[in-house]
Amino acid sequence: MSAPDGLPPIRDVIRMSGLTARKSLGQNFLLDFNLTRRIARAAGPLEGATIVEVGPGPGGLTRALLLEGAARVVAIEKDERCLPALGEIANAYPGRLDIVGVDALQVDYAALDLQRPARIVANLPYSVATPLLVGWLKTEPWPPWFDRLTLMFQREVALRIVAKSGSRDYGRLAVLSQWRTSPRVLLTLAAAAFTPRPKVDSSVVELVPRAAPQPSCNVAALERVTAAAFGQRRKMLRSSLRQITPDTEPLLEQLGIDPKARAEQLEIGDFCRIANALGR
Ligand code: SAM
Repeated sequence: MSAPDGLPPIRDVIRMSGLTARKSLGQNFLLDFNLTRRIARAAGPLEGATIVEVGPGPGGLTRALLLEGAARVVAIEKDERCLPALGEIANAYPGRLDIVGVDALQVDYAALDLQRPARIVANLPYSVATPLLVGWLKTEPWPPWFDRLTLMFQREVALRIVAKSGSRDYGRLAVLSQWRTSPRVLLTLAAAAFTPRPKVDSSVVELVPRAAPQPSCNVAALERVTAAAFGQRRKMLRSSLRQITPDTEPLLEQLGIDPKARAEQLEIGDFCRIANALGR
């Protein structure tokens, strides 16, 4: 029996392509078309939109994005074994699917020069999900070329993205994500939804870029401050920040920040003010 788009079910595509899942590539596939359509709709409205999809694999989510109305999908897949199956989808949707067979970490996304609105939608491979997100969040100039990111992460990473100051999950990823975007968890999928079944559940997170992140600060300087502060998160700021500046105590006092506070007690604006005080 074929799927709602007239193509063979993903389970059959995987079998016919001999796509045994590779752990090193974070291959946990979604086979249920209802689920992939739900994710595609969560990234909507898709009409007229250009979607960059990282890690399409055999194309379950790709097909859902096209069926739900995406004008164009640019699919970036490192595993060459997936390319023939993706080619079949491109044939079924003439002119709407571009397949890029490269490592997504090596792509210069801004240079793709995509028609707007453009956004990224992906069921990300676990091993590179965080570096990919951080790369997108560090896009310059800001606001970026994408109007939204709709991304599936391991649940634990999703919680780190939306964590608030004072919580155990609050760290570098929360500061960078929430300074530049408004993130929220859209839905959570049980591990059983994936084949092969991973050890943990996953969540889809939506990140909408802020037009002008406040307070404004240099992203590289902010990264240096949060790396030092959260790198030794049990230490007081007056010691953890010493690796980037010698006179931490007067600097923090001048900013009205308690030198004895720990990184997780600071708000995002505090990190920006420290970054600004240290200069670039
Ligand atoms: N989108 C499919 C789905 O939802 O069923 C597959 C998602 S699977 C979690 C992750 C996909 O990312 C795999 O197809 C894997 O080959 C691909 N991948 C892993 N590392 C990659 C990289 N560095 N660049 C591009 N694709 C990568």
